[in-house]
Amino acid sequence: MSKPDITWHNSAVTPADRAKALNQTPRCIWLTGLSGSGKSTIANGLDTHLNQLGKHTFLLDGDNVRHGLNKDLGMTENDRAENIRRVGEVAKLMVDAGLIVVCAFISPYKRDRQMVRSTFGHGEFIEVYLETPLEVCEQRDPKGLYKKARAGIIKNFTGISDPYEIPEAPEVTIDTSKSDIEASVKKICSAI
Ligand code: ADP
Repeated sequence: MSKPDITWHNSAVTPADRAKALNQTPRCIWLTGLSGSGKSTIANGLDTHLNQLGKHTFLLDGDNVRHGLNKDLGMTENDRAENIRRVGEVAKLMVDAGLIVVCAFISPYKRDRQMVRSTFGHGEFIEVYLETPLEVCEQRDPKGLYKKARAGIIKNFTGISDPYEIPEAPEVTIDTSKSDIEASVKKICSAI
């Protein structure tokens, strides 16, 4: 929706100025995959690694964001789209502030991921697809959610009763049933 009475004000300090002040190349690193595929675990490992290198980072995690900013949203297709839209906007602001932002969201729909990608400049958005097989995710079941989804207690559960659309051209693909945390973090770092 266009807003004819609202005008965009350009800041005198540009995103490039902010990145220069932090002496780093800002990025949005977007982890997508099924529940239990390892998004939060790898995102934390990556955030820790970059922080230890002295980088300025931030971690946006699906479950955490649903406690605050997005606590009004559920798991319908529309709510999932709005969840990703808001998080994408927050990530964009953080990248413009000069940060390396690590995002861990199931983000099952191609359209939603594409929308976020389209807000970033070339090379700024790094899509990391965790292709860990459903059987492995379900066996791990770190939060007991697959059990509840199979029992019909949780509706709209990605991989069980809701779709997951596989990324077509992610910058990085990792199967965490074959790659440990350290190797996964290393693989992502070599792509940023
Ligand atoms: P998601 O955020 O995708 O729902 P989590 O990171 O919360 O997934 O859960 C993944 C689970 O799998 C954790 O309990 C983690 O310890 C375990 N796990 C086992 N091996 C790996 C691995 N190689 N990489 C990431 N997680 C792993």
